[in-house]
Amino acid sequence: MEFELRIVVEKVAISTQEVVECNMLKVYDIEAPQSILELGLRHTEQISLLSKVQNSVLAEQCKLIRKDHKTCPNCGGKLGRNGTTKSKFHAVFSDHQLTIQKHRCQNPDCRWQQSSTTNAVFGTNIHPDLAKLQCEQGANFSYRQAQENLEKINTCHRPINNHTQISRLTSQVGEMLSKQNLITPEPEECAEASKEIILQVDGGHIPIKEKQKRSFEALFAVTYRPENLQPVDENHRQIVDKSCAISAQEDNLEMMKTYVLNTALKQGLNTKTLVTALADGAKNCWSVIQALKPHCRDIEAILDWFHIGKKFQNVLNGLDATNQESLENAKWKLWHGQATEAIEKLETLRRQITDEKQKNKLKGLKDYLLRNQEYLINYEQRKQSNQTFTSQVAESHIDTVINARHKRDGKMQWSRVGAHNVLQIRAAMISQQWQHHWQRTVLPALGIVA
Ligand SMILES: [Zn+2]
Repeated sequence: MEFELRIVVEKVAISTQEVVECNMLKVYDIEAPQSILELGLRHTEQISLLSKVQNSVLAEQCKLIRKDHKTCPNCGGKLGRNGTTKSKFHAVFSDHQLTIQKHRCQNPDCRWQQSSTTNAVFGTNIHPDLAKLQCEQGANFSYRQAQENLEKINTCHRPINNHTQISRLTSQVGEMLSKQNLITPEPEECAEASKEIILQVDGGHIPIKEKQKRSFEALFAVTYRPENLQPVDENHRQIVDKSCAISAQEDNLEMMKTYVLNTALKQGLNTKTLVTALADGAKNCWSVIQALKPHCRDIEAILDWFHIGKKFQNVLNGLDATNQESLENAKWKLWHGQATEAIEKLETLRRQITDEKQKNKLKGLKDYLLRNQEYLINYEQRKQSNQTFTSQVAESHIDTVINARHKRDGKMQWSRVGAHNVLQIRAAMISQQWQHHWQRTVLPALGIVA
């Protein structure tokens, strides 16, 4: 005996279990798969089947939309049916046409007519799950790349996934996030008070291709509670719960300072909290950190060992073996809290070297340490007593945040505000904020009133 598989949608009366409608969506042959390719349904077929199931669900839902609309909102008169409207609806993987009942006021003096498009009923014709996906793609890739990625997931091109739509939505959501991040978090959004909070701030540059224009600076901050830095394995640690802030605005750091305060409040900052702050040494970073002063007990500001290490490495690479040893020695002194000796050693080394390029590099390193001398500590001691001295978690550095979007995509002409907005989404994705609260931003950006 031979068989086939029918995929059927049944509409059933719940009380009697009587099948009142039956639609066959698809018939599949049952055959032995000749290869792994024939095992189950192909990608395109899965999307197509999903689309058919959606159509069945949507047809039934549409019959119920505005079913209870009986009175005219204009005059209070009786509403009568007035045909149907067909309009578009874009679900995550498929596009549909909805048929929605229209009403008209029967009072001859009023004649009010209802608009019955998906937009009129719901505020948007895009399912928020699709909007979320578009935003995530738009924040992580160039808009054209995002379009391509969505086409691959979807197995076909859909006008709704066009790069212009992705660009528009990503900007709107980013702008919304940028505003929302300025609002002081509600008590229920904040973790319980924490004795200590760790704050990492570093800066980076977003390149722009326009001639005669310099790249612009962005600042990135991560706040977390010490107990949330947990080991993954012997050599790696991760921050299991963190709040991130990023700004590329040219506003004397005003926005960044508010963002950082709000992220710290979310992590449990209060006036009794000790803030341990790590920074890469840029003046802007220290200003952002010091702005927390009125809101906490004290701030312990430390020049991030991660960045010191990077700066030393940069100089080390160009030196010969003997001078490398001298430099390592200076670093050792710095590590053990002997900053003055370390700086003197760098100066001695600079005088010995003849190569101008190396000389300049050494001067750069020395000046960097001099500029940040008040933030140099005994790193060895802090390590021994298990206290924070370095920001070693890779994903929490600005280069990771910027690189993934703005450096790779060199062709884009970024405006400062445009980049700022898109980076808000990336920062939200890096913290847990996006995953849990994306609807808060995506729904209003789509035009849906809560
Ligand atoms: Zn009316």
